[in-house]
Amino acid sequence: MKASPEAQLRLLELADLDTELGRLDHRRRTLPENAELAQLGERAAKVRDAITIADTDLADLDRELSRAEKDVEQVRVRIEKDNKQLDAGRVSNARELESLQSEVASLRKRQDDLEDIVLELMERREAAQALRDGGATEAEAVGAEEAAVEARRAAAVTEIDEQQAKADATRAATVEVIPADLLALYDKIRASAGGRAAAELRRGQCGGCREALSTAELNEVRRAAPDEVVRHEECRRILVRTAESGL
Ligand SMILES: [Zn+2]
Repeated sequence: MKASPEAQLRLLELADLDTELGRLDHRRRTLPENAELAQLGERAAKVRDAITIADTDLADLDRELSRAEKDVEQVRVRIEKDNKQLDAGRVSNARELESLQSEVASLRKRQDDLEDIVLELMERREAAQALRDGGATEAEAVGAEEAAVEARRAAAVTEIDEQQAKADATRAATVEVIPADLLALYDKIRASAGGRAAAELRRGQCGGCREALSTAELNEVRRAAPDEVVRHEECRRILVRTAESGL
């Protein structure tokens, strides 16, 4: 293939731009903020689960508490009623009196037990509320951290977008001045080999694969006309000759 030395030099610019675009693409895909946000998302989900469990516990405990408090109240009313009867001195029968007194005694015992239950439930409720509050605080902290990381990621993406737009524009202008057949060859090599498709021959070394060319290979390059498109046998890249080629 033939192409002017100027067009061949343009391939080096194109290869630099494609390397830059590849770097930007890689940076976009591997932004550390992506991993951070994934981790924060997991943390947020765990916190949400903990809050749901605490809320369920709180609702259960509230129900149990109101039941136990109602029981205490019922017993209290019953004791009051019995005491009124005793105080009024309306019960004169000794056996009835004894039975009423023993009922009051057992009711008091029941009241004590129920009050213990209420106290225990209140303690459990307090612990559940503390867990719930801790969860809410943590959720808020995770949310704030997420917002900060999102902002950092957005700034990084904006920066990458700007650099990419610049490189894209330069690439479009560079491609304009490269002959179609040379560009097609460049694209073909890039698709099959990956990485740089054109490299500078610098001091006898291929700038693509970094291999030094043998004397025979160098002689062959020397013999090639300036508008001959030379390729490195080893890596198949287009070798672009410059004043630094060491020919
Ligand atoms: Zn090479």
